[in-house]
This record gives sequence, structure tokens and C-alpha cells, in this order.
Amino acid sequence: MTDTTRLRIAVQKSGRLCDGSMELLKAIGVKLSIRDRLLIAHSTNLPIDLLRVRDDDIPGLVMDGVVDLGFIGENELEEKMLERQATNRNASYKELTKLDFGGCRLSIAVPNEFNYQSVQDFNGKSIATTYPYLLERYFKQNNVDASAVMLNGSVEVAPRAGLADAICDLVSTGATLEANGLREVQEIFRSTAVLIQRSGELPAAKQALVDKLMPRIAGVMQAKE
Ligand code: ATP
Ligand code: ZN
Repeated sequence: MTDTTRLRIAVQKSGRLCDGSMELLKAIGVKLSIRDRLLIAHSTNLPIDLLRVRDDDIPGLVMDGVVDLGFIGENELEEKMLERQATNRNASYKELTKLDFGGCRLSIAVPNEFNYQSVQDFNGKSIATTYPYLLERYFKQNNVDASAVMLNGSVEVAPRAGLADAICDLVSTGATLEANGLREVQEIFRSTAVLIQRSGELPAAKQALVDKLMPRIAGVMQAKE
């Protein structure tokens, strides 16, 4: 049985949000004994359990109330929210704070030979992406009739492989795009990591712990400014 009195926090097991999340937890005084292969890590000094999962699973775990808090990129959070709204599932959560790591942008990129003038050029085109809901919302807002091709990996090779006319993917430096003969033409979403809480009331002791940790998070971020 899991101990429901302990605050359950979902973090990415490995990847771009992992270091930032773990460093922040450490900086606010959460001591953890992490054994690398394990899904769950227990805090040794506070009633906190970490659930170490793929980032894609974190929005759903919070929205389903399976965990109390989650560290997640706004891109993934917003995409999953749109997906769940479209399929009539609970998509509610509370944002506790934006964080100072995980910054990136979701952008449309086209092959170098694509003569791009405006977003209207995507009418009738197909765009490979891992974020079809964010992309379709953007096209709808701009009255563009384009189709999203869902790919969970290797998005940047899709045009060369003849799977799509362009791509929509996360960019931080642009080096990956360049290496694949692509150029960024349109940013559609700007993202950072955020800390979210499940909606509904937490048991008083858990809420008190969250209330104790939040000022520490603010303090740690402020000290870095
Ligand atoms: P997982 O195995 O957990 O599913 P992943 O491959 O989906 O991992 P990462 O590449 O680790 O994910 O990225 C996780 C999150 O980090 C992204 O969704 C985004 O919010 C953020 N991020 C920050 N910078 C970048 C970047 N340059 N490229 C991709 N993601 C970035
Ligand atoms: Zn992922």
C-alpha cells in the first residue's frame, strides 16, 4: 500500500527537466535517497515521495489526482490539457509557480528550399509534430487549413523522408534544425517548466507542507536572479 499521507510529486525520470527539478528540490531542503532504477524515491527528512516518470505522463497523473504535484514543461502540459479537453476527460490543475529552467519554444521550421512568406503558405501542407493539439490550435487561430502528422520521435527528419512538408518542434539553439536542413520560420508557443498541483483540496497536513515549500522555491529562484 502507498502511504497517502505523504506528498506525492511527479518528476521527469531523466531528460531536460530532470536536473532542474532535482536541484530545486535539493535547494529547498528535500533530502532524497535515489536508487536509479526505481520509480519511487522517498525523502529521508520530509513526508514526500517522488514519482519518477516520463514527462509525457506527468500532466495526466496530476489531472487524474494520482499525484499531488508535478514538475512539467508548459508545452507538454498545454498539449495534454487540449487533448483531454477534446476527449472529455478531466483537464484541471492549479499552477503553483513558473520555474526558471526548461525554457524553450515550439516553432514551425521548413526545409531551406521552402519559399516562406507567411503562415498562409501552410494552407494544404502537412506538418510533422509531437504537439498536434497546440499546432492545430495555432492554425485555427490563423485561419490556416493545414494538417498535423503525429510523430513521437525523429520529427526533424520527416520532410527529408517525405512524411511531411514542414515540422513543428521544440527549439532551444536551432542547431538540430540546421543540421537537418531546416530553418525556423514561426514560433507558436513559448515554454518554461512549471510546478503544478492537482485540483481539489489537499489534506491539511499536505497543504501545510506545500505552503512551507513554496516560499523556499521563491527564495531559491530570487537568489539566482
Ligand atoms: P521523456 O523520456 O521523459 O519523455 P522527452 O524526450 O520527452 O523525455 P526531453 O527532451 O527531456 O523530453 O524534454 C523535456 C522537456 O524539456 C520538454 O518538453 C520541454 O518542456 C523542455 N525543454 C527545454 N529545452 C528543450 C529543448 N531544447 N528541446 C526539447 N525540450 C526542451
Ligand atoms: Zn516526453
